[in-house]
Amino acid sequence: MRILVASLLLLVGTCSNKRHSERVSDLKASIEFNDKSSVETYLNTITENDLERHLVEIASDKYGGRMTGEDGHNQICDYIRSHYQNLELEAPVAYQDYYQRIPAVFLPENLKDSQNVIAFIEGSEFPEEYIIISAHSDHLGIEYGEIFNGADDNGSGTSAILEIAEAFKLAEKNGVRPRRSIVFLHVTAEEHGLIGSRFYTENPAFPLEFTVANLNMDMIGRVDEKHLNNPDYVYLIGSDRISTELDYIVRKANDEFAKLELDYKYNDRNDSNRYYNRSDHYNFALKNIPVIFFFNGEHSDYHKASDTIDKINFNVLKKRTQLIFATAWYIANSDNAPSKEIL
Ligand SMILES: [Zn+2]
Repeated sequence: MRILVASLLLLVGTCSNKRHSERVSDLKASIEFNDKSSVETYLNTITENDLERHLVEIASDKYGGRMTGEDGHNQICDYIRSHYQNLELEAPVAYQDYYQRIPAVFLPENLKDSQNVIAFIEGSEFPEEYIIISAHSDHLGIEYGEIFNGADDNGSGTSAILEIAEAFKLAEKNGVRPRRSIVFLHVTAEEHGLIGSRFYTENPAFPLEFTVANLNMDMIGRVDEKHLNNPDYVYLIGSDRISTELDYIVRKANDEFAKLELDYKYNDRNDSNRYYNRSDHYNFALKNIPVIFFFNGEHSDYHKASDTIDKINFNVLKKRTQLIFATAWYIANSDNAPSKEIL
C-alpha cells in the first residue's frame, strides 16, 4: 500500500512537471521580436559618443557631487529637463514643468527641497499602461573638500535614460510610436534611502495599477573584478521575482541584440549584499510591479571621490543601455503586459 501511494505521488509529480515544462517552453516561444530591424535601427542611435557627452557633463566638478537639494543637483535636474524639452517629450499632467517637487519635510535632516524629473511618451494603443524607466540623479556631494562626482553612481544610469528616451522619441517621430506609454523617471535622494522613488510610488504621476514594469539602472558603466576578462556582462536582479515572463523578455532581448553575459549572482535570495532591496526598483517591487535592476557590481571606487569618468567603460555602458532599450521596446509593444505569474 505504501509503495502504491508513493508511485501514485511520483506519477502525479511527473505529470505536473511535464505541464510545467510545457508552460515554460510555451511562454519562451511566445516571446518574439517581430520588428527586429526597427529595434536595431533605433538601438543603434544609442552611441558611446552620446553617452559620453552626457556623462562628461553630469560627472563634472561644477555640479558639486549632486547632493540632494543643493544647487549642483538642481542644475543637473535642469539639464535633464532641458533634454526632454528639446526632444519635445511630454510632461505629466500633474507636473507640467516635469518636476515632482519633494518638500524638505519629507527628506532626512538638513536636506533642502528637491525633485524627481518625469517625462513620457504616450502610447498609441494602450496609452494608460505605463513602463517606467528609472535611475537616481543624486549622489554624495562634497566631503572634506573632495567632490564625489559619481560617474558610475549614477551618472551612468542617468546618461543611459537620456539616450533611451531620445531613441524612443526618434522612433515616434518616424511613425513608430510605442503601443504602451513609456515614462522616464529620474529620482532624487536615493543615496539617503530610496526616498525619491518612495515618494513617487506614494504619489504616482501615473496609476501604479496600470504600471506594467519598472526597469531601473544604478551603476552600469563599470566592470567589476569578477569580469575583468569579460567586460560584456550585466548583473540582473529581481527580473524573475514577480514575473517569469519579464525575465524571459530580457533574456530574449539579450539573445537578439546585446549579447551580454547575464549574471544572476546577486539575484540569489541568500546573497548577503541584498542588492534587491538597495536601489529604486525596490519601491516598485513593494507595489507588486515587475522590476529589473541592471547593475555592474561593486568596485573599489564605490561611494568614493575616485568614482570618476576616466574609469567608465563606454563600450559596455552602450551595450547595457541598448539591452534596456530593447527590453523596454518589447514590453511597450507586445500584445500583453508581462504576466505577474511565477512559473
Ligand atoms: Zn546609486
